[in-house]
Amino acid sequence: LEKTYAMIKPDAVGAGNAELILRAAEDAGFIVVKAARTTLSRERAGEFYAEHRGKPFFPNLVSFMSSGPIVAVCLAKTNAIADWRALMGPTNTLVAREEKPKSLRALYGTDGTKNATHGSDSLVSASRELKFFFPNMTLD
Ligand code: ATP
Ligand code: MG
Repeated sequence: LEKTYAMIKPDAVGAGNAELILRAAEDAGFIVVKAARTTLSRERAGEFYAEHRGKPFFPNLVSFMSSGPIVAVCLAKTNAIADWRALMGPTNTLVAREEKPKSLRALYGTDGTKNATHGSDSLVSASRELKFFFPNMTLD
């Protein structure tokens, strides 16, 4: 089964929606292999989103991601990477509400940066991100 790294971001955890989001994943056929509540320092949030360093939204993104608890999740399913991104919907919650009103970001996100969930965008990033949060996990 393909694995992906999913994350419930501080807005959704703070609003008390983490359990609902995990249940939505299971209802969509994902296996929750691991789910761990933790917090990110500014430094680790910046390292996680290193590909965006230098972009105008990067400082806000790092502040947001280190502002409160997150839930780090490993999901497994056939086609998990693409299917989880489809379930999340468009990056910007306001766009998601227009284009995909039943998506997780439409339902649980806040705005363009505070968008409730993350999902790896490729096999390479899934592997990097799962190792980043679950260093002992074996990836086949
Ligand atoms: P993620 O990587 O969190 O799953 P994504 O792959 O849909 O989201 P990316 O382009 O990787 O989107 O952006 C990473 C995160 O940075 C977004 O989820 C969002 O929180 C924030 N972000 C991206 N683009 C913008 C923007 N134009 N303005 C504000 N915040 C943004
Ligand atoms: Mg991304």
